[in-house]
Amino acid sequence: MEPSLPRPRGRFATRAVQAAAIVPEVAQKPVGPAIWPSATWAMPTSSEVGDLLTDTAPGYVYGRYDNPTATTLHGLVASLHEAPAAWSLASGTAAIHAVLSVLRGAGRVLSTSRLYGGTWALFRRLTDEAGWQVDHADLLTVEALEDALEASHTVVHVETIANPSTAVADVAGMAALCRERGVALVVDNTFASPYLCRPYALGATAVVESATKYLAGHGDVVAGVVAADEAVVAAVREHTFELGGSLGPFESWLVVRGAQTLPLRMRAASANASAVAHALVDSGAVEVVRYPGLEDHPQHALAAELFGGRGFGGVLSFDLPDRNAAERFADACEVFARAASLGGTHSLVLHPASTSHRQLDDASLAAAGLGPGTIRLAIGIEDEEDLRADVRQALSAIHPPR
Ligand SMILES: *Cc1c(COP(=O)(O)O)cnc(C)c1O
Repeated sequence: MEPSLPRPRGRFATRAVQAAAIVPEVAQKPVGPAIWPSATWAMPTSSEVGDLLTDTAPGYVYGRYDNPTATTLHGLVASLHEAPAAWSLASGTAAIHAVLSVLRGAGRVLSTSRLYGGTWALFRRLTDEAGWQVDHADLLTVEALEDALEASHTVVHVETIANPSTAVADVAGMAALCRERGVALVVDNTFASPYLCRPYALGATAVVESATKYLAGHGDVVAGVVAADEAVVAAVREHTFELGGSLGPFESWLVVRGAQTLPLRMRAASANASAVAHALVDSGAVEVVRYPGLEDHPQHALAAELFGGRGFGGVLSFDLPDRNAAERFADACEVFARAASLGGTHSLVLHPASTSHRQLDDASLAAAGLGPGTIRLAIGIEDEEDLRADVRQALSAIHPPR
Protein backbone atom coordinates (compact mmCIF):
# COMPACT_ATOMS: atom_id res chain seq x y z
CA MET A 1 0.00 0.00 0.00
CA GLU A 2 1.28 3.47 -0.86
CA PRO A 3 2.31 5.31 2.33
CA SER A 4 0.46 8.53 3.05
CA LEU A 5 2.41 11.80 2.95
CA PRO A 6 2.19 14.84 5.23
CA ARG A 7 0.15 17.63 3.60
CA PRO A 8 1.97 20.81 2.58
CA ARG A 9 0.80 24.01 4.27
CA GLY A 10 0.24 27.54 2.97
CA ARG A 11 -1.57 29.02 -0.01
CA PHE A 12 -1.79 27.61 -3.55
CA ALA A 13 1.64 28.69 -4.95
CA THR A 14 3.41 27.77 -1.71
CA ARG A 15 1.80 24.32 -1.65
CA ALA A 16 2.84 23.75 -5.28
CA VAL A 17 6.49 24.28 -4.28
CA GLN A 18 6.46 22.57 -0.90
CA ALA A 19 4.57 19.46 -1.99
CA ALA A 20 7.31 18.74 -4.52
CA ALA A 21 9.85 18.35 -1.70
CA ILE A 22 7.82 15.86 0.34
CA VAL A 23 9.47 12.50 -0.20
CA PRO A 24 8.02 9.30 1.25
CA GLU A 25 10.05 7.52 3.91
CA VAL A 26 10.83 4.18 2.31
CA ALA A 27 11.53 1.33 4.71
CA GLN A 28 12.01 -1.22 1.91
CA LYS A 29 15.35 -1.51 0.13
CA PRO A 30 15.07 -0.73 -3.58
CA VAL A 31 16.74 -3.35 -5.78
CA GLY A 32 17.27 -0.78 -8.53
CA PRO A 33 19.36 2.22 -7.41
CA ALA A 34 17.55 5.48 -6.64
CA ILE A 35 18.20 8.78 -8.40
CA TRP A 36 18.32 11.90 -6.21
CA PRO A 37 18.37 14.88 -8.54
CA SER A 38 18.33 17.45 -5.75
CA ALA A 39 20.84 20.29 -6.29
CA THR A 40 20.71 21.29 -2.63
CA TRP A 41 19.76 19.65 0.68
CA ALA A 42 18.01 21.12 3.71
CA MET A 43 18.90 20.61 7.40
CA PRO A 44 17.02 21.45 10.62
CA THR A 45 19.59 24.07 11.72
CA SER A 46 22.07 26.48 10.05
CA SER A 47 24.84 25.06 12.16
CA GLU A 48 24.25 21.60 10.64
CA VAL A 49 24.32 23.11 7.12
CA GLY A 50 27.66 24.67 8.11
CA ASP A 51 28.99 21.32 9.33
CA LEU A 52 28.18 19.77 5.96
CA LEU A 53 29.69 22.64 3.97
CA THR A 54 32.93 22.40 5.91
CA ASP A 55 33.07 18.59 5.71
CA THR A 56 32.90 18.19 9.50
CA ALA A 57 29.86 15.89 9.28
CA PRO A 58 28.96 13.26 6.68
CA GLY A 59 25.97 13.99 4.45
CA TYR A 60 24.74 15.85 1.43
CA VAL A 61 24.64 19.64 1.19
CA TYR A 62 25.07 20.71 -2.46
CA GLY A 63 25.07 18.77 -5.73
CA ARG A 64 28.51 19.88 -6.90
CA TYR A 65 30.05 18.26 -3.79
CA ASP A 66 28.29 14.90 -3.55
CA ASN A 67 25.06 13.20 -4.47
CA PRO A 68 23.70 9.87 -3.17
CA THR A 69 23.48 8.25 -6.62
CA ALA A 70 27.18 9.04 -7.20
CA THR A 71 27.93 7.56 -3.75
CA THR A 72 26.49 4.25 -4.99
CA LEU A 73 28.71 4.51 -8.07
CA HIS A 74 31.79 5.25 -5.95
CA GLY A 75 31.17 2.15 -3.83
CA LEU A 76 30.70 0.06 -6.94
CA VAL A 77 33.91 1.27 -8.64
CA ALA A 78 35.98 0.92 -5.44
CA SER A 79 34.69 -2.63 -5.06
CA LEU A 80 35.41 -3.66 -8.67
CA HIS A 81 38.92 -2.15 -8.53
CA GLU A 82 39.64 -3.59 -5.05
CA ALA A 83 40.52 -0.06 -3.92
CA PRO A 84 39.62 1.69 -0.64
CA ALA A 85 37.75 4.52 -2.38
CA ALA A 86 36.62 5.94 -5.73
CA TRP A 87 35.29 9.16 -7.22
CA SER A 88 33.34 10.15 -10.32
CA LEU A 89 33.64 13.12 -12.66
CA ALA A 90 31.86 14.52 -15.69
CA SER A 91 34.17 12.72 -18.16
CA GLY A 92 37.22 10.48 -18.35
CA THR A 93 39.22 13.55 -19.38
CA ALA A 94 38.12 15.43 -16.25
CA ALA A 95 39.15 12.38 -14.18
CA ILE A 96 42.64 12.31 -15.74
CA HIS A 97 43.03 16.06 -15.17
CA ALA A 98 41.93 15.82 -11.53
CA VAL A 99 44.04 12.84 -10.50
CA LEU A 100 47.21 14.11 -12.20
CA SER A 101 46.65 17.57 -10.70
CA VAL A 102 46.56 16.22 -7.17
CA LEU A 103 49.43 13.76 -7.63
CA ARG A 104 51.92 15.86 -9.57
CA GLY A 105 52.52 18.48 -6.87
CA ALA A 106 54.91 20.89 -8.55
CA GLY A 107 56.79 18.17 -10.42
CA ARG A 108 56.98 16.98 -14.01
CA VAL A 109 54.61 14.42 -15.51
CA LEU A 110 56.08 11.48 -17.40
CA SER A 111 53.48 10.14 -19.81
CA THR A 112 53.41 7.29 -22.29
CA SER A 113 53.55 8.45 -25.90
CA ARG A 114 50.96 5.79 -26.81
CA LEU A 115 48.30 8.13 -25.57
CA TYR A 116 44.57 8.54 -26.17
CA GLY A 117 44.09 11.55 -28.49
CA GLY A 118 42.00 13.53 -26.02
CA THR A 119 44.70 13.14 -23.36
CA TRP A 120 47.26 14.58 -25.82
CA ALA A 121 45.00 17.61 -26.22
CA LEU A 122 44.57 17.91 -22.44
CA PHE A 123 48.35 17.80 -21.87
CA ARG A 124 48.96 20.37 -24.64
CA ARG A 125 46.52 22.79 -23.02
CA LEU A 126 47.89 22.26 -19.51
CA THR A 127 51.41 22.81 -20.84
CA ASP A 128 50.44 25.96 -22.77
CA GLU A 129 48.12 27.51 -20.22
CA ALA A 130 48.83 26.12 -16.78
CA GLY A 131 52.62 25.71 -16.70
CA TRP A 132 52.58 21.91 -16.61
CA GLN A 133 55.69 20.09 -17.77
CA VAL A 134 54.85 16.82 -19.47
CA ASP A 135 57.46 14.48 -20.97
CA HIS A 136 56.60 11.59 -23.25
CA ALA A 137 58.28 8.22 -23.75
CA ASP A 138 57.17 4.85 -25.11
CA LEU A 139 56.33 3.36 -21.70
CA LEU A 140 55.40 -0.29 -22.12
CA THR A 141 58.10 -2.01 -20.09
CA VAL A 142 59.91 -1.53 -16.78
CA GLU A 143 63.15 -1.00 -18.73
CA ALA A 144 61.61 1.79 -20.83
CA LEU A 145 60.28 3.45 -17.69
CA GLU A 146 63.63 3.14 -15.93
CA ASP A 147 65.34 4.83 -18.91
CA ALA A 148 62.87 7.72 -19.07
CA LEU A 149 62.30 8.39 -15.36
CA GLU A 150 64.12 11.41 -13.93
CA ALA A 151 64.29 12.80 -10.40
CA SER A 152 62.04 15.75 -11.38
CA HIS A 153 59.16 13.41 -12.31
CA THR A 154 56.51 13.12 -9.60
CA VAL A 155 53.88 11.17 -11.51
CA VAL A 156 53.84 8.64 -14.35
CA HIS A 157 50.81 8.22 -16.63
CA VAL A 158 50.32 5.05 -18.73
CA GLU A 159 47.47 3.20 -20.46
CA THR A 160 46.84 -0.52 -19.88
CA ILE A 161 45.96 -1.16 -23.54
CA ALA A 162 47.05 1.50 -26.05
CA ASN A 163 44.93 2.88 -28.86
CA PRO A 164 44.94 1.79 -31.68
CA SER A 165 48.08 -0.38 -31.47
CA THR A 166 46.58 -2.56 -28.67
CA ALA A 167 50.06 -2.65 -27.07
CA VAL A 168 49.78 -3.85 -23.45
CA ALA A 169 51.79 -2.17 -20.67
CA ASP A 170 53.53 -4.08 -17.87
CA VAL A 171 51.39 -2.38 -15.24
CA ALA A 172 52.53 -4.49 -12.27
CA GLY A 173 56.23 -4.14 -13.11
CA MET A 174 55.96 -0.38 -13.58
CA ALA A 175 53.98 -0.05 -10.33
CA ALA A 176 56.79 -1.78 -8.44
CA LEU A 177 59.43 0.52 -9.95
CA CYS A 178 57.35 3.64 -9.21
CA ARG A 179 56.93 2.57 -5.56
CA GLU A 180 60.66 1.99 -5.28
CA ARG A 181 61.35 5.48 -6.67
CA GLY A 182 58.61 7.22 -4.66
CA VAL A 183 56.80 8.32 -7.83
CA ALA A 184 53.02 8.09 -8.25
CA LEU A 185 51.66 5.87 -11.03
CA VAL A 186 48.34 6.65 -12.73
CA VAL A 187 46.94 4.00 -15.06
CA ASP A 188 44.27 4.81 -17.65
CA ASN A 189 42.51 1.44 -17.64
CA THR A 190 39.64 2.40 -19.96
CA PHE A 191 40.29 -0.26 -22.64
CA ALA A 192 40.66 -3.09 -20.11
CA SER A 193 37.96 -2.15 -17.56
CA PRO A 194 38.17 -3.63 -14.05
CA TYR A 195 36.86 -6.91 -15.43
CA LEU A 196 40.16 -7.57 -17.22
CA CYS A 197 42.65 -5.57 -15.13
CA ARG A 198 42.79 -3.94 -11.66
CA PRO A 199 45.88 -1.72 -11.65
CA TYR A 200 45.28 -0.43 -8.09
CA ALA A 201 45.37 -3.99 -6.78
CA LEU A 202 48.62 -4.45 -8.75
CA GLY A 203 50.26 -1.51 -6.98
CA ALA A 204 49.36 1.59 -9.03
CA THR A 205 48.66 4.77 -7.05
CA ALA A 206 45.43 5.48 -8.92
CA VAL A 207 43.31 4.07 -11.75
CA VAL A 208 41.34 6.33 -14.07
CA GLU A 209 38.73 5.22 -16.54
CA SER A 210 36.46 6.81 -19.04
CA ALA A 211 33.25 5.23 -17.71
CA THR A 212 31.74 6.32 -21.04
CA LYS A 213 33.23 3.13 -22.45
CA TYR A 214 33.01 -0.38 -20.91
CA LEU A 215 31.93 0.55 -17.39
CA ALA A 216 28.65 2.21 -18.46
CA GLY A 217 28.75 0.18 -21.65
CA HIS A 218 25.69 1.32 -23.60
CA GLY A 219 26.92 4.40 -25.44
CA ASP A 220 24.44 6.64 -23.63
CA VAL A 221 26.50 8.59 -21.07
CA VAL A 222 29.82 10.45 -20.72
CA ALA A 223 31.53 9.95 -17.33
CA GLY A 224 34.89 9.37 -15.67
CA VAL A 225 36.01 7.55 -12.52
CA VAL A 226 39.08 7.41 -10.31
CA ALA A 227 39.90 4.60 -7.84
CA ALA A 228 42.67 5.04 -5.26
CA ASP A 229 43.29 5.19 -1.51
CA GLU A 230 41.19 7.42 0.79
CA ALA A 231 43.65 10.31 0.83
CA VAL A 232 44.03 10.52 -2.96
CA VAL A 233 40.27 10.22 -3.45
CA ALA A 234 39.63 12.96 -0.85
CA ALA A 235 42.00 15.24 -2.78
CA VAL A 236 40.34 14.34 -6.10
CA ARG A 237 36.92 15.04 -4.58
CA GLU A 238 38.01 18.50 -3.42
CA HIS A 239 39.60 19.23 -6.80
CA THR A 240 36.37 18.14 -8.49
CA PHE A 241 34.01 20.32 -6.53
CA GLU A 242 36.33 23.32 -6.66
CA LEU A 243 36.90 23.07 -10.42
CA GLY A 244 33.31 22.06 -11.04
CA GLY A 245 33.56 18.80 -12.99
CA SER A 246 31.23 16.72 -10.78
CA LEU A 247 29.11 13.93 -12.26
CA GLY A 248 25.37 14.47 -12.03
CA PRO A 249 22.88 12.01 -10.52
CA PHE A 250 21.28 10.92 -13.81
CA GLU A 251 24.68 10.15 -15.35
CA SER A 252 25.79 8.37 -12.17
CA TRP A 253 22.65 6.25 -12.36
CA LEU A 254 23.32 5.27 -15.99
CA VAL A 255 26.85 4.12 -15.11
CA VAL A 256 25.55 2.14 -12.11
CA ARG A 257 22.91 0.49 -14.28
CA GLY A 258 25.37 -0.37 -17.03
CA ALA A 259 28.17 -1.62 -14.77
CA GLN A 260 26.02 -4.45 -13.41
CA THR A 261 26.46 -6.31 -16.72
CA LEU A 262 30.15 -5.43 -17.20
CA PRO A 263 31.39 -9.05 -16.88
CA LEU A 264 28.77 -10.36 -19.33
CA ARG A 265 29.48 -7.63 -21.88
CA MET A 266 33.23 -7.90 -21.55
CA ARG A 267 33.13 -11.67 -22.03
CA ALA A 268 30.92 -11.29 -25.10
CA ALA A 269 33.03 -8.47 -26.60
CA SER A 270 36.25 -10.41 -26.00
CA ALA A 271 34.87 -13.56 -27.63
CA ASN A 272 33.54 -11.56 -30.60
CA ALA A 273 36.81 -9.63 -30.99
CA SER A 274 38.80 -12.85 -30.96
CA ALA A 275 36.52 -14.33 -33.65
CA VAL A 276 36.81 -11.20 -35.83
CA ALA A 277 40.60 -11.08 -35.36
CA HIS A 278 40.90 -14.68 -36.53
CA ALA A 279 38.56 -14.01 -39.47
CA LEU A 280 40.80 -11.11 -40.53
CA VAL A 281 43.94 -13.24 -40.26
CA ASP A 282 42.29 -16.12 -42.17
CA SER A 283 41.11 -13.76 -44.94
CA GLY A 284 44.72 -13.25 -46.03
CA ALA A 285 43.55 -9.83 -47.26
CA VAL A 286 45.00 -7.66 -44.49
CA GLU A 287 48.59 -6.94 -43.58
CA VAL A 288 48.89 -7.04 -39.81
CA VAL A 289 46.16 -7.75 -37.25
CA ARG A 290 46.81 -6.34 -33.77
CA TYR A 291 44.83 -8.00 -30.99
CA PRO A 292 46.32 -9.03 -27.64
CA GLY A 293 44.52 -12.37 -27.91
CA LEU A 294 46.47 -13.40 -31.03
CA GLU A 295 49.51 -15.53 -30.28
CA ASP A 296 51.79 -13.39 -32.45
CA HIS A 297 50.86 -10.17 -30.58
CA PRO A 298 54.07 -8.77 -29.01
CA GLN A 299 52.57 -8.75 -25.49
CA HIS A 300 50.30 -11.81 -25.79
CA ALA A 301 51.86 -13.64 -22.83
CA LEU A 302 51.86 -10.52 -20.64
CA ALA A 303 48.21 -9.83 -21.52
CA ALA A 304 47.19 -13.41 -20.72
CA GLU A 305 48.75 -13.05 -17.28
CA LEU A 306 47.62 -9.46 -16.60
CA PHE A 307 44.00 -10.19 -17.64
CA GLY A 308 43.89 -13.49 -15.74
CA GLY A 309 42.59 -15.48 -18.70
CA ARG A 310 39.33 -13.52 -18.61
CA GLY A 311 39.73 -12.36 -22.23
CA PHE A 312 41.64 -9.77 -24.23
CA GLY A 313 39.13 -6.95 -24.63
CA GLY A 314 37.03 -5.71 -27.52
CA VAL A 315 39.44 -3.49 -29.47
CA LEU A 316 41.61 -4.57 -32.39
CA SER A 317 43.27 -2.86 -35.31
CA PHE A 318 44.67 -3.94 -38.66
CA ASP A 319 46.28 -2.42 -41.71
CA LEU A 320 44.96 -2.23 -45.24
CA PRO A 321 47.40 -1.34 -48.05
CA ASP A 322 46.54 2.37 -48.22
CA ARG A 323 44.23 5.20 -47.20
CA ASN A 324 41.79 4.57 -50.03
CA ALA A 325 41.35 0.88 -49.23
CA ALA A 326 40.80 1.69 -45.54
CA GLU A 327 38.16 4.31 -46.34
CA ARG A 328 36.38 1.90 -48.69
CA PHE A 329 36.41 -0.81 -46.02
CA ALA A 330 34.96 1.49 -43.36
CA ASP A 331 32.30 2.86 -45.70
CA ALA A 332 31.26 -0.65 -46.79
CA CYS A 333 30.53 -1.89 -43.25
CA GLU A 334 26.85 -2.54 -42.57
CA VAL A 335 26.74 -4.00 -39.03
CA PHE A 336 29.65 -1.88 -37.74
CA ALA A 337 28.74 1.79 -37.35
CA ARG A 338 31.25 4.43 -38.44
CA ALA A 339 31.80 6.21 -35.14
CA ALA A 340 34.42 7.14 -32.57
CA SER A 341 34.35 5.73 -29.00
CA LEU A 342 34.26 2.09 -27.90
CA GLY A 343 33.08 -0.13 -25.11
CA GLY A 344 29.36 -0.07 -25.90
CA THR A 345 26.98 -2.79 -27.01
CA HIS A 346 27.31 -1.70 -30.68
CA SER A 347 30.34 -2.56 -32.85
CA LEU A 348 32.12 0.46 -34.33
CA VAL A 349 34.61 0.92 -37.17
CA LEU A 350 37.02 3.84 -37.25
CA HIS A 351 39.53 4.90 -39.89
CA PRO A 352 41.85 7.05 -37.73
CA ALA A 353 43.69 8.71 -40.65
CA SER A 354 40.46 10.28 -41.94
CA THR A 355 38.73 10.83 -38.56
CA SER A 356 40.38 10.99 -35.11
CA HIS A 357 43.89 11.59 -36.53
CA ARG A 358 43.02 13.54 -39.72
CA GLN A 359 45.32 16.47 -38.86
CA LEU A 360 48.39 14.21 -38.95
CA ASP A 361 50.57 13.63 -42.02
CA ASP A 362 51.91 10.12 -42.71
CA ALA A 363 55.10 10.70 -40.65
CA SER A 364 53.13 11.88 -37.60
CA LEU A 365 50.72 8.97 -38.07
CA ALA A 366 53.69 6.59 -37.94
CA ALA A 367 54.93 8.23 -34.75
CA ALA A 368 51.47 7.67 -33.24
CA GLY A 369 51.79 3.98 -34.13
CA LEU A 370 49.42 3.84 -37.08
CA GLY A 371 49.43 4.12 -40.84
CA PRO A 372 47.15 5.70 -43.45
CA GLY A 373 45.55 2.27 -43.99
CA THR A 374 44.98 1.42 -40.31
CA ILE A 375 41.45 0.46 -39.27
CA ARG A 376 40.32 0.22 -35.65
CA LEU A 377 37.41 -2.00 -34.69
CA ALA A 378 35.67 -1.62 -31.32
CA ILE A 379 33.68 -4.81 -30.97
CA GLY A 380 30.26 -4.94 -29.32
CA ILE A 381 28.03 -7.76 -28.16
CA GLU A 382 26.16 -8.58 -31.36
CA ASP A 383 26.10 -12.06 -32.90
CA GLU A 384 29.61 -13.22 -33.72
CA GLU A 385 28.76 -14.59 -37.17
CA ASP A 386 27.12 -11.31 -38.27
CA LEU A 387 30.30 -9.42 -37.33
CA ARG A 388 32.54 -11.88 -39.17
CA ALA A 389 30.30 -11.76 -42.24
CA ASP A 390 30.29 -7.94 -42.21
CA VAL A 391 34.09 -7.85 -42.11
CA ARG A 392 34.29 -10.36 -44.97
CA GLN A 393 31.85 -8.45 -47.19
CA ALA A 394 33.57 -5.11 -46.42
CA LEU A 395 36.94 -6.63 -47.39
CA SER A 396 35.49 -7.84 -50.68
CA ALA A 397 34.11 -4.33 -51.32
CA ILE A 398 37.63 -2.85 -51.34
CA HIS A 399 38.25 -4.32 -54.79
CA PRO A 400 34.82 -4.38 -56.43
CA PRO A 401 34.62 -6.56 -59.56
CA ARG A 402 34.82 -4.39 -62.70
C1 LIG B 1 37.54 7.90 -24.18
C2 LIG B 1 38.85 7.82 -23.48
C3 LIG B 1 39.28 8.85 -22.62
C4 LIG B 1 38.48 10.11 -22.40
O1 LIG B 1 37.25 9.85 -21.82
P1 LIG B 1 36.00 10.85 -21.98
O2 LIG B 1 34.96 10.20 -21.14
O3 LIG B 1 35.68 10.92 -23.45
O4 LIG B 1 36.47 12.17 -21.47
C5 LIG B 1 40.49 8.71 -21.98
N1 LIG B 1 41.27 7.62 -22.18
C6 LIG B 1 40.91 6.62 -23.00
C7 LIG B 1 41.81 5.45 -23.17
C8 LIG B 1 39.69 6.69 -23.69
O5 LIG B 1 39.32 5.70 -24.51
